[in-house]
Amino acid sequence: MGFSPPVRPVAVDEETLRGHLADAEIPALLMTIAHLTGDVSVLREDLRAPGWLFAPQGGLTAEQQAEVRESALEVLLRPGGEVPEALPEPPGRDLLHAITTWAMGSDTEDLLPLLAEELVGPGDDPKAPGWTRAGLSPGSDFQVAVIGAGFSGLLAAYRLAQAGVPFVVYEKNPDVGGTWFENTYPGCRTDVASHLYNYSFAPKYDWPDHFCGQDVVLEYLRAFAKDSGVGDRIRFGIEVSAMRWDDERSLWHLTLDGPAGERTVVHHAVISAVGQLNRPRLPDIPGRDSFAGRAFHSAAWDHGTDLSGKRVAVIGTGASAYQIIPEIAGTASEVVVLQRNPPWLRPTPHYHRSVPDSARWLFEHVPYYAQWYRFWLFAPGLRGILEGWVVDHDHPPTERAVSALNDRLRATLLQAMEAQLTDAPELRELVIPAYPVGAKRVLRDDGRWLATLKRDDVRVVTAPIERMTPSGLRAGGEEFDVDVIVYATGFEASRFLTPMRVTGRGGVDLHDGWNGAPRAYLGITVPEFPNLFCMYGPNTNLVGQGGSIVYFSECAATYILDAIRLLLASGSRSLSVRAEVHDAYNAWVDAGNRDRAWGWSKVGGWYNEGGRSATNWPYTAGDYWRLTHAVDPTEYELQ
Ligand code: NAP
Repeated sequence: MGFSPPVRPVAVDEETLRGHLADAEIPALLMTIAHLTGDVSVLREDLRAPGWLFAPQGGLTAEQQAEVRESALEVLLRPGGEVPEALPEPPGRDLLHAITTWAMGSDTEDLLPLLAEELVGPGDDPKAPGWTRAGLSPGSDFQVAVIGAGFSGLLAAYRLAQAGVPFVVYEKNPDVGGTWFENTYPGCRTDVASHLYNYSFAPKYDWPDHFCGQDVVLEYLRAFAKDSGVGDRIRFGIEVSAMRWDDERSLWHLTLDGPAGERTVVHHAVISAVGQLNRPRLPDIPGRDSFAGRAFHSAAWDHGTDLSGKRVAVIGTGASAYQIIPEIAGTASEVVVLQRNPPWLRPTPHYHRSVPDSARWLFEHVPYYAQWYRFWLFAPGLRGILEGWVVDHDHPPTERAVSALNDRLRATLLQAMEAQLTDAPELRELVIPAYPVGAKRVLRDDGRWLATLKRDDVRVVTAPIERMTPSGLRAGGEEFDVDVIVYATGFEASRFLTPMRVTGRGGVDLHDGWNGAPRAYLGITVPEFPNLFCMYGPNTNLVGQGGSIVYFSECAATYILDAIRLLLASGSRSLSVRAEVHDAYNAWVDAGNRDRAWGWSKVGGWYNEGGRSATNWPYTAGDYWRLTHAVDPTEYELQ
């Protein structure tokens, strides 16, 4: 089954095509031309300015862009109006190598298998499991529980379905979507480009915006669940509260809480796809329950509370608050922003822009333009920006910057912020972060945030909150009387798999074993917890590199399916990662994280709680692919 919408090449006249090309992403267009013609001479060095992977339109001048559009006209105009019957083939190895090496500015030989999987041709799915349970082990009764029906859970379910492995998905909510179902706060949208933030094998060409709203992402997931058939295999409203490994029978016993009460089921394997950022965290502020007005967390937005004319306090200035505050300012009579650490802002002029019809036309009609555009969005995750976060101990690192490159990034972001503050110099002290770029999530900026903070009806308060009161809160000795308090205070990101009780071999408790420092091999498997696989588990959060967590979930799904293949093919009942493999891997991950901006800085936050990052992946997206592409049986005890 293929999910790609059809690409429909059509013959159009020159003027119409010229109009469509006006909104093309030029680097992607260049790669498309090279692909369609097989002529890589169009990929000239002089078209690739330094830093081009990160600049809008690759930093190409208007003249250069016009030149590329002219070349595209020549290639795409069809004399006589003929339309080819068959679409071009995906690029062969050499062509892929040449185009991507040029685009990345360094040899991509080592990345070619990954790139071939990412550059998915229409209707193709190169990451699909190439085996079936019936083929490997016809008599097997092996069946799997998937916990969660968000991006990761739906994917795991689909891969199991492709392999013909029976499964059930348990989802606590009444619908699919996970975090995209739960977060409905005003302004909620992706901050990874929508053309990348989707399954590689199920692209969507008609995203209305470059960074779509929550409703659009949720609709994509609903459509995927329906079209793939996995929606029929989901038990909604069922929360897995506990699971226990039964070593004698090699089974997981799952305790399910649902409308009919509690019951227990058994499965041979469990895939936990419960997410990282979905258990709201309320800060431990004295008097929190004394507030007499309405108070709620960003991820549990109270749509019954009309904010019109109300005085609203928003606690936090992370990614959620950053989207909420500009939306409610102007509706509320007054917004008090309680800020501890301000965010670094990354210029993204098109952050709130729609995708023009002409650009959408290109995705729908120019073969492989959508694929090269996706690659263009993905490429910085493969090498690119990671170096900007790496600590240089000779620099030496400070809370200003952890390396010369990090300092240059800081200067670039600072310049963009200061350009917005010329008419509000008093804000400067409040909104310029005092920690290195990358130590917290960098947020996408098109000017809305600082414009909002400049408003007369918005006030930024940086004094620590002393206590909540019946009429609001007190900070810096000042009383703030408000009608509504919004806790945009984040999630229990480092408390993986909570609140489930998970008991492994010999009665060992997962959370006791972790002792507040969750670890897993590849973020997926844990010693003494056989046949338990995590998606978006410990240390799988890719930090601002251009890839996305969907990509990480696809890597994990490939690995988990390969582990199940190994179980079935070997006739084993259980598979458990060797402790020494797990420990050596985590030492390597910890060393990487210590030498990243978030590991070095003392600023804290969910990237680094308690002095050790349990969330972040400190290497490249390509590194994770290499490690998860296939299971090494020598790393596991098979029984
Ligand atoms: P967050 O990044 O953890 O931010 C929580 C905010 O609350 C921070 O500003 C934090 O300050 C502040 N805070 C916490 N306790 C406080 C206290 N006692 N007093 C004052 N301030 C307090 O949470 P989030 O904004 O919900 O975002 C979490 C993650 O979810 C994001 O990083 C992102 O990965 C994801 N997300 C993504 C999007 C998107 O655009 N796709 C949108 C929302 C969320 P400190 O910084 O000082 O700790």
